Amino acid sequence: MTSPVRVRIAPSPSGHLHVGTARIGICNWLFARHNGGKFILRIEDTDPERSFAEMVTSIQESMKWLGLNWDEGPYFQSQRGEIYTQWTERLRNSGHAYLCYCTPEELAAKREKAQQEKQPIRYDGNCRNLSDADRARYEAEGRKPALRLRIPDGETRYTDLVYGDLTRSNAELDDFVCARADGRPTYNFACVIDDHDMQISHVIRGNDHITNTFKQVLIYRALGVEPPLFAHLPLNLGKDRRKISKREGATSVIEYQQMGFLPEAIVNFLALLGWSPGDEREIMTRDELVDAFTLERVNPSNPVFDMQKLEWMNGEYIRKMSTNELLERLTPVLMESGLVTRLHIQTNWAWMLRVVETLRERIRLLNDIVEQGAFYFTDKFSYEEKGAKKYFNRPGAAEDLTLLSNEFGKLPSSDFTKVGTEALLRKLAEQLGRSPAELIHPLRLALTGMTTGPGVFDIVELLGRDKCVARLQHAVDFIRKSDQQ
Ligand code: GLU
Repeated sequence: MTSPVRVRIAPSPSGHLHVGTARIGICNWLFARHNGGKFILRIEDTDPERSFAEMVTSIQESMKWLGLNWDEGPYFQSQRGEIYTQWTERLRNSGHAYLCYCTPEELAAKREKAQQEKQPIRYDGNCRNLSDADRARYEAEGRKPALRLRIPDGETRYTDLVYGDLTRSNAELDDFVCARADGRPTYNFACVIDDHDMQISHVIRGNDHITNTFKQVLIYRALGVEPPLFAHLPLNLGKDRRKISKREGATSVIEYQQMGFLPEAIVNFLALLGWSPGDEREIMTRDELVDAFTLERVNPSNPVFDMQKLEWMNGEYIRKMSTNELLERLTPVLMESGLVTRLHIQTNWAWMLRVVETLRERIRLLNDIVEQGAFYFTDKFSYEEKGAKKYFNRPGAAEDLTLLSNEFGKLPSSDFTKVGTEALLRKLAEQLGRSPAELIHPLRLALTGMTTGPGVFDIVELLGRDKCVARLQHAVDFIRKSDQQ
C-alpha cells in the first residue's frame, strides 16, 4: 500500500448507533489498527430534519463503549459548508455539471407521470442544454438553480475490494443533483468532498451504497481527483434472512448494552459477521482480531445475525472474566434493578464476590443476575408454582421444614457453613427416613422461590442462619395456609 491507511465511519445522527453501523465501524477500526492507520469519525448531519444533537452524543458514547476509539474528529458536515461551496464552484466550472432550474413541484409531477406510465423514474434532461436565453428567463422568474452532474454516455467501472470488478451503465445513473438550490450538498457530493479532503484511503461501508459508489466515482472524475479504494461489506440479515431494519427489534447498540451484553462480546460477534480469520476460532480478543483482520477474508454473501450465538458468546466472555471484574460490571445492573445499593455492594464486596461466584456459570447476559440472583438480596419473591406443587404439597412437608428450621436455628453461626449445614441436613434426613433430596428440594424452593440455581448449601451459607430460618418458617406458613384452603 502506498498511501497511509485512513478510514472513516460516517454515521447520520438520526438515531442511536445502529448495530449495522457499529459493525461497519468495527471493520474500519480493525482495518485501521491492523495497518497502523487512522480511524476517523465523521458525522453526516447535513439534513437538519433528521439530525439530532442528543444522537451525536449517543453515537459517540456507544462507540466509546465498544472501544472504537477514533484518531480524528468528530468532523461535522454541517460545519463544512464553505468547503462544499468551493468544490461546488469547481464542479460548476469543470463543465461536467449544469444548472437545473426545475422546481421541486415540476420534478414531482414528472416523477408521478413516469410512475403512472410505468416508465423508469429519471430526470428528463430538461435543463441539460439550456440556452443563455432560457437561463435568463428562469433567473428572471426568480428560480434558484441546483447543480446536476452531466453524466456521459457509456458505463462506469470500479474495482471493489470485496466484490471485484463492477460495472454500471451510466443510463441507469441519471443526471443527479450535487448541490441543491439552497446550496446544500447532497449526500454523494458531500461524501466525495469529505473523503477526498480527509485523505481517506479506503471507503469501507455497507453494500447498500454500491449504487452510490458509481455516482461518487463519476464525481471524482468530474473533479479530476483520484478516488479512494472501495470495499463494500454485506449487510446483516435476521435469522429468517430478512434485512435487519432500523425499526424492528433491538437494533441499536444502546439496546444491547441495556440488555446486559458486554462490549467485547459484541465486537467479537459483529467482527465475525461476514468475516472470518480463516480458521476455526470464534472467541477472539481484540488484539487477535486486529492481528487477523484483512479485507480479503470478507465473505461477500450476506451473513445471518444469530442472536443465540451472540448470547452464547456473551456467556463465554462472562466466564472468562475474573469474578472481581464481573462484579464491577454487574454493579450498575444490580443498582438499576433496585435490589441493592452501590454502598451495600461496596461494603460487602467479599460477600458479593461469593454470590457472583455461585452465579457466573449460569448467566449469559449481565441482566440475568437480576432474575437468577434476586433471592440473595430480597425476601420478596413468590414460589415457582410447579415447584410448590411438587415439593410443598406433599404430606409432611411443613413438618420436615419446621424440623430443618429448628435444627438450623440451633447451629452456632460459626458452624453455619456449607459443610456444617449439609452434614446437619443429611443427618436429619436419615433420622426421618427420607432421602437428602426430599429435604433439599423444598429447602431450595423455600430459600430462593426457584427449583434450580446454584448449589443449595452455598446459598445457605451466603444467606446466613437468620435468613434461612426466617425463610423456612415463611415456607411453613405458606404450606399451612395452602392446606387450609
Ligand atoms: N451516512 C451514511 C450512512 O450512514 C454514510 C455512508 C458512507 O459511509 O459513505 O449510511
